[in-house]
Amino acid sequence: MAKVVEEIRCSNCGAPLTFKPGEIVVTCRYCGFTVVISTREAFILEHSLIINKYNELEVDRILKSWMGSGFLKPRGLAEKAKIIEKELEYLPFWIVPISASTHYKGIFERITPPIVKEGSINKSYNWLILGRKASKFPTREYQIPIEGKIPFDFRQIDRNAKVLNSELSEREVIDEARQEVEAHHKFLASQDVDRLIEFKTDYNLGKAVYVHAPIWFIVYEYKRKYYNLVLDGATGQVIKGDIPPMDFGLF
Ligand SMILES: [Zn+2]
Repeated sequence: MAKVVEEIRCSNCGAPLTFKPGEIVVTCRYCGFTVVISTREAFILEHSLIINKYNELEVDRILKSWMGSGFLKPRGLAEKAKIIEKELEYLPFWIVPISASTHYKGIFERITPPIVKEGSINKSYNWLILGRKASKFPTREYQIPIEGKIPFDFRQIDRNAKVLNSELSEREVIDEARQEVEAHHKFLASQDVDRLIEFKTDYNLGKAVYVHAPIWFIVYEYKRKYYNLVLDGATGQVIKGDIPPMDFGLF
């Protein structure tokens, strides 16, 4: 598959800046300068990095121990499974500080006669958005270990790791966060009333932070089938792992 790569010069150090179609926020591999492609202007938000702490051997060890523990795994999975693919990627995340105050009114139908009920939800979040459009990464299951972040620095990134750029602009990220928070508050309100008749939310947004975080994508084979596993390279935790069905009758 041919990859189309575009090239411009970094406005900070003059090195070639390569990016793929669709990428909007691009970081220079030589000096770490981050630029918004559409305007060629410097990226003004904070750009941070969370460092990978595990090498391939340690990742293998974590996988074997994950395979060998827990109730739902087939017996002998750790011995029989074969790791087929193991790739470290630094994914571009956005953290959007957002306070949302919702006021809602609805009909509570769980009693007779039904009554009209009102309520409010006031919450603050650091809402996480992945800056990639098509990705199998389970964002909602990931607790980004933000305490360990440092200013972005290419020298701290493993040689073999892939670093992905954001395909979403700051504006798109903020819209997305707002929509997701609204959907979340609708869900919360629907726990309280059966039919919403009024729903209004006011938002207060803080400055977004752009963070690259290390994620291992692993594929393993077990009994001629492939399974995916996603591991947090900063904490060594399995974020999501496919488990083969149990081998009933083989004990
Ligand atoms: Zn540069």
